[in-house]
Amino acid sequence: MNYPIARLIRIKGLVQGVGFRPYVYRQAIRFDIKGWVENNNEGVTVHAESTTISLKRFEEALENEIPEAASISTYTSQETKYFGFEDFVIQKSSNLSDAITEISPDIAVCSACLEDMKTQAHRINYPFINCTNCGPRFTIIKDLPYDRHQTTMHDFELCETCKMEYKNITDRRFHAQPVACKNCGPSYLLSNGQAVSDGKALADMLAQYIDQGKIIALKGMGGYHLICSALDETTVETLRFRKQRDGKPMAVMVKDLETARKYFKIGEDEAILLSSWRRPIVLVQNKLPLAASVSLALSRTGVILPYMPFHHQLMAQLKTEVIVLTSGNLSEAPIIITDDEAKTNLINIADHIITYNREIYNRTDDSVAFMANQKTRLIRRSRGYAPQPISLKLNTEGIFAAGAELVNTFAIGKGQQAILSQHIGDLKNVETLSFYEESFDRFKRLFRFKPNLMVCDLHPDYLSTRFAMESGLKVVQVQHHHAHIASCMAEHSLDEKVIGIALDGTGLGTDNTIWGGEFLIADLNDFSRAYFYDPIPLPGGDLVTKQPWRTAFSYLYHYFGLPIFIEEAAKNLLPNENQLPLLIQMIDKKINSPLSSGAGRLFDAVSALLGVCRESSFHAEAPMRLEAIINPQCRGKYLFELEGQKISFRKLFHQILKDINQDVTPGDIAAKFHNTLIVINLHISKLLREETGINKVILSGGSFQNAYLLEHTEQILIDQGFEVFSQEKVPSNDGGISLGQLAIAAKRKQLGIS
Ligand code: ZN
Ligand code: ZN
Ligand code: FE
Repeated sequence: MNYPIARLIRIKGLVQGVGFRPYVYRQAIRFDIKGWVENNNEGVTVHAESTTISLKRFEEALENEIPEAASISTYTSQETKYFGFEDFVIQKSSNLSDAITEISPDIAVCSACLEDMKTQAHRINYPFINCTNCGPRFTIIKDLPYDRHQTTMHDFELCETCKMEYKNITDRRFHAQPVACKNCGPSYLLSNGQAVSDGKALADMLAQYIDQGKIIALKGMGGYHLICSALDETTVETLRFRKQRDGKPMAVMVKDLETARKYFKIGEDEAILLSSWRRPIVLVQNKLPLAASVSLALSRTGVILPYMPFHHQLMAQLKTEVIVLTSGNLSEAPIIITDDEAKTNLINIADHIITYNREIYNRTDDSVAFMANQKTRLIRRSRGYAPQPISLKLNTEGIFAAGAELVNTFAIGKGQQAILSQHIGDLKNVETLSFYEESFDRFKRLFRFKPNLMVCDLHPDYLSTRFAMESGLKVVQVQHHHAHIASCMAEHSLDEKVIGIALDGTGLGTDNTIWGGEFLIADLNDFSRAYFYDPIPLPGGDLVTKQPWRTAFSYLYHYFGLPIFIEEAAKNLLPNENQLPLLIQMIDKKINSPLSSGAGRLFDAVSALLGVCRESSFHAEAPMRLEAIINPQCRGKYLFELEGQKISFRKLFHQILKDINQDVTPGDIAAKFHNTLIVINLHISKLLREETGINKVILSGGSFQNAYLLEHTEQILIDQGFEVFSQEKVPSNDGGISLGQLAIAAKRKQLGIS
């Protein structure tokens, strides 16, 4: 029967700040629906009245044609009281606490806008085109509520045409705060200050420069990029030289998926991630060679597709199919966002600086991700992800989590949510620290956040720890690896006892030694250290991360003593033999040789021993190079021993030395080494399951950015009946620590412990 009824529809997911309410409105008009739509804490609620047939069509459309950046996690619909509404309205968010969840991450330009660039008279080739479904968000927001005058668009007054679109609820630009056209919006600026609002003309010019081997500094969405050909070695070398960049691999941009598939091996799931509106840099396997200096003989390269309208325009004009797209900064400092900084700092690197006259307010780097076991794994969570909240089942209100030191993020607690900052960087210099402090102030204002409890790492020297300590508020300190495990638990809403495997490079333990190869029994409140990698001295302290050969030396000395160094493979480790007595003295007399159980150090040692990487020019280079040479066909493994709680690698090193002497290929040795760690993960998990009855295993820590280790560990544990949880929403590296700290502090608060 076709008579008027009413339905109450509740939609949860990412439905706020992404143009979802106008979208519902347009569908309502389309199907002659009366009633209302509103935002609330839970998501979006719709009261819809019409005939049964119209309602059915309306609901089908609602679920299936949603805006690109929106996603529905749950959709419920039930019959409700019929009021006989005469029109359909969007209810205003009355509550500011609702509004805070409406800060959307930045969204890649949508296909409809790219089409409009060719057809709309006032936006032909206009490179700042956007709509409710796409465009800048977080990077331009200064305050809430999210209104144009509270963004860096406030300098640009809407022209009559744009104003009409902005006010017309049936228009795709209805209430699109950054709406603009060539008559009223921002424009690009050449080095001489000349404004250009025709993106195609600018693209023509820049494409020529790039094809000729020039380096360009181009203002992006969240900061400046340096771009140049990725196929011309001389150019890339010049960029590296001018940027004084260490050996870090660089990301590249290609025009589209087709070109990506030509140069790289792209899986189905990788294609989806590459083209998602979040547009992260995705690590994929190389196929055709690029200029050697781009990925420096690593087997994977970070690839990204265009996400600003001008990226599309530029890529369309280029003859060069692959370009380097690396952040415009001086090494170790945050990505540059202001035109003045660009002019002072990038002038010596780039041949041309292209800017635009809209301010970037919130500095945001490109995010970096890879796929493992069909799931997205974040290495850096920034543009396209921040500041999207992560829901917890704990009251986090007022808790500030300071994060760790490397690849820092912080987190603030609002209600039952964690809001993580964008990627801040390595908190090791004043520039990064001031970015951290500035972002803290901005998050406080933007999210109406009043801190009442600080939580930080145990390490007293981390600048994040000092920041928390100096706040004058109560401080909770959390052990680093406990935070890693809690981070993974929090994103999976786990609040119980688990087996936690935390493998990473460095974190201060409760016994004042360095930890990092940890098997914990943990819950959100507390943990105990069940098993751990055999601690070894690190002669030279921090220096070992730059000189992995030191760690390899220490392992061999630890297990086999001095006699081992008559063997060729061991002797080769030292840059020169004269260093031997000094190193031994350091270790024997415990001079600047802290004990470490770090998994990262074990990777370093094996990498150095094989001659794959003895000196490291960027963070985690040695483990990355070791992973890159794995022969995936090799199923072999080495032996290990348990000595009480300690996992000893004596036999592993003995066998590796033997393999080296017998000329087993480095690819096979690397595989056997990784396979051993995977078997250890299984073996210890089984022991702990027998002891405790716990069947849930949590994997976290930076070493799980190693795709081989992660995929095989997950698989082997699942095969043995374990429930396995690994990180997807936040990085398993120290960028995810703040979430773990926040969850632990919230739990302790709930229990009345802090
Ligand atoms: Zn759009
Ligand atoms: Zn306009
Ligand atoms: Fe860590």
